Amino acid sequence: MALLVSVCMGTAGARAADAETEPAAEPGIVLVGVDPGEDGLLDRIREFVEKNYSCPTRLAPVPAAWQDKPRSGQAEILAAQLKPGDVCLVAVYDRAEDTDFSTDLYPELRTALVNAARVERIEKEGVPAEEMHERMVERACMRAIGTLIGLEPCPWPRCCMHVPPPDVSHEVRGRNLCPPCQDKADRILREKGVTLLKDGAPAKPEG
Ligand SMILES: [Zn+2]
Repeated sequence: MALLVSVCMGTAGARAADAETEPAAEPGIVLVGVDPGEDGLLDRIREFVEKNYSCPTRLAPVPAAWQDKPRSGQAEILAAQLKPGDVCLVAVYDRAEDTDFSTDLYPELRTALVNAARVERIEKEGVPAEEMHERMVERACMRAIGTLIGLEPCPWPRCCMHVPPPDVSHEVRGRNLCPPCQDKADRILREKGVTLLKDGAPAKPEG
C-alpha cells in the first residue's frame, strides 16, 4: 500500500507546463487547466481524482483557438485531446465575471467543464475558506467524472455523488465515493479497459 501511495503522489506532481512533454501514459482521466485559478489547484485536483478513482490521469495543454467559441464549442475542442481508451476529460475554469456556469457536462464528448469560481462556497467550522473551496472544487470534479462514467445520484449524504436537498446543512458535502459507488466505479473503469492503479499497474511510458 505504501508503494502504491507513493506512486500516486509521484505521478500527480507534474505541472501543467510539463503536459506536452509528459511521456505517453496509459489511457485514463485527462485534466486541462483552462485557467486553473490558485497555484497548485490543478495538481491538487489531479492527485485527488487519481487516488480516489484509482485511475491513471494526465494533464493536457489548453488547445489553441478554444476561447472564441461558445462553451459547447470549447468542449468539442477540448474533447479532441481524448485519446482512444481515455475515460473522460475535465477542464477546470476559473471564471467569475463573464459566466455563471458551475459544471457543464457533455456526455457525448466524455467531457466536463468545471468552473471553480462558481462552485458552491460553503463554510465549515475550523476549515479556512480557501481550503474549503478547493475541497468543493475537488468534489465537483469527482462528481463530474462519476456522472460521465455512468454513476447515478447516491443516497449516502457524504458521497460525492449525493445530491443534497436545498435545506440540508452545508457541512454535509463529501468529496469521496462511498463504498458502493467506489465498487461500481471500479467495475465500470475495468470494463472500459482501464488498469486501475490499485490493481498494481501504474501508468508507465510505452516503448
Ligand atoms: Zn455513493
